[in-house]
Amino acid sequence: MQEAKTSDDANHACRIRSRKATPVFAGWRRTAAVIASLVIVAQAAPAAAQTPQRLSIIRDAETEQLLRDYTAPIFKAAGIRSGAAKVIIVGDRSFNAFVANGQKIFVNVGSIMESKTPNELIGVLAHESGHIAGGHLARLRMELANATIFAVAGMLMGGAAVAVSARNRNVGSNPAGVAGAILGPQEMARRALLSYQRGEEQAADIAAVNYLNATGQSARGLLATLERFQNDSLFKTSSIDPYLLSHPLPRERISNLEQLSKKGPHWDRTDPPALQLRHDMARAKLVGFTTNSGETSRRYPLSDASMPARYGRAIAAYRFGRLDDGLAQISALIAVQPNNPWFHELRGQALLEAGRPDQAVEPLRRAAALVPGGTPIQVMLGHALLSSNNPKNVDQAISILARVTQREADYAEAFQYLAMAYEKKGNQPQAMISAAQGLMLMGRFVEARTQADRVKKLVPENSPIWLKADDIMTYRPSR
Ligand SMILES: [Zn+2]
Repeated sequence: MQEAKTSDDANHACRIRSRKATPVFAGWRRTAAVIASLVIVAQAAPAAAQTPQRLSIIRDAETEQLLRDYTAPIFKAAGIRSGAAKVIIVGDRSFNAFVANGQKIFVNVGSIMESKTPNELIGVLAHESGHIAGGHLARLRMELANATIFAVAGMLMGGAAVAVSARNRNVGSNPAGVAGAILGPQEMARRALLSYQRGEEQAADIAAVNYLNATGQSARGLLATLERFQNDSLFKTSSIDPYLLSHPLPRERISNLEQLSKKGPHWDRTDPPALQLRHDMARAKLVGFTTNSGETSRRYPLSDASMPARYGRAIAAYRFGRLDDGLAQISALIAVQPNNPWFHELRGQALLEAGRPDQAVEPLRRAAALVPGGTPIQVMLGHALLSSNNPKNVDQAISILARVTQREADYAEAFQYLAMAYEKKGNQPQAMISAAQGLMLMGRFVEARTQADRVKKLVPENSPIWLKADDIMTYRPSR
């Protein structure tokens, strides 16, 4: 599992944080989509003290595969082309999911970790798919275009405050329930947007129930998630859940959903045990990788001998300075399931991070062979190969990483490692252009341009590398 700060798919670089965040534009292309996501981000930014943050993306083959399996039937039922839409995992502990940049569902690790069943998470993903299928982002853009610049600015500054006050007052769909002394243009625009957004939430809920019914699944999980937020909000006054801000949750929304979902033909259906286990394993992995060792022990005490608990503890052990203990625990897991690719991947990652790349190569090769489409494993293998002491491995690293960058042109880390591998081979132009592409994807445009400028002087005009460098030089991030 890898975490990287990146401007996702070269479209934007903003990060939702539960306590403080500010929208940052390092966006390229598709300006309008960036604006729409900004609204969501701004609403999830309650704190006054704001510092620029980049979206922190988690790449993990196991979790990505699970989310693909969750969304594939839902996308099909929603009529969303499977190649076009995808789920991106955001390294944030708070519960949130939102649609941005066209057909991308961003889901926080916190949402996966807090969803007790696949069905709970699938319900949330079905709701987000409802936003995609309904073209809500596109319509939100139009709503914004209709508002005056001044009102939009005010809306962005104060969206959070209004959403909070609306929630605390438990108003229904009628935005007039928000008590306001004087209605300035900003306040009017804010209320209009909030009311409009509530309509979209209802529409996405209805769509989600339809998709779940069509795919033989229950809407119980979506309802449980929304109810949990409603109950939480009764007790919490100081903290603000970003999910509630991006998805207004009046009481009537829940009762409507409840009535609708209980009528579904599969209301009583539960997740298949094998899927529940995969879900629990992914959750344990995320807990092991994203929390402190204390939280891992609380969630997975030694008395718990289940595979997820053992998985989470093994990760925490190696991450918190007990490498030998961690490796022993991973070996014990491999002994139980010798063909589980994620255990081999974990062994490789632990060794790689411990500065033993030569030993990491074999388990990572094994994992990569077991998961042909597991891009993050290939990137890790490439990293291990180029860091090892065997010069032959560097060539192999280049071929693996080059293939990854061709398949996933937005994988910033792959470009970075590719640059390192070319550097080791003494191929300066390829090293520099790969580094420039990686920097570009991370939203570090000034450094990317500096690199591109240097590389243009090294290669013949109009050669493929020169043209790539020229693209980077002429690119202007949208404001
Ligand atoms: Zn929503």
